[in-house]
Amino acid sequence: MTAAAQSDAAGFPVRQGERRWTAAEITKVRTQLAAEAAELREEIEKAESDIADRLGDSISNAGDDQADVGAKTYEREHELSLTYNARDLLVQTERALARIDAGTYGWCESCGQPIGKARLQAFSRATLCVSCKQREERR
Ligand SMILES: [Zn+2]
Repeated sequence: MTAAAQSDAAGFPVRQGERRWTAAEITKVRTQLAAEAAELREEIEKAESDIADRLGDSISNAGDDQADVGAKTYEREHELSLTYNARDLLVQTERALARIDAGTYGWCESCGQPIGKARLQAFSRATLCVSCKQREERR
């Protein structure tokens, strides 16, 4: 970690009553996020190559009866939605990493208040504070 990044750690916001972030804590969150991003990328790549294989299969098995084709279609859609989910998570994870690097990590994207250290240590890719998150879920 560079000296600049170390002095930045103290600049990440905390909620009232929370201790300041230390460089070690930021490093830990960043390492975790980077590992998650790598895992998600791998998962997406794997799912995509599985889907490509499956597509090849369904073309070669054009003689299948209708029920079979239906089941395969369902399976493929399920896999696709998993990939979309993983993509969403990857986007969020990469955004959190970018925010750490930019020194803007920890501020709620909606109200601009600190998200809180405890929340970020539990959900490191959170971009909203608890109240904004709850408001969004009620919508
Ligand atoms: Zn908020």
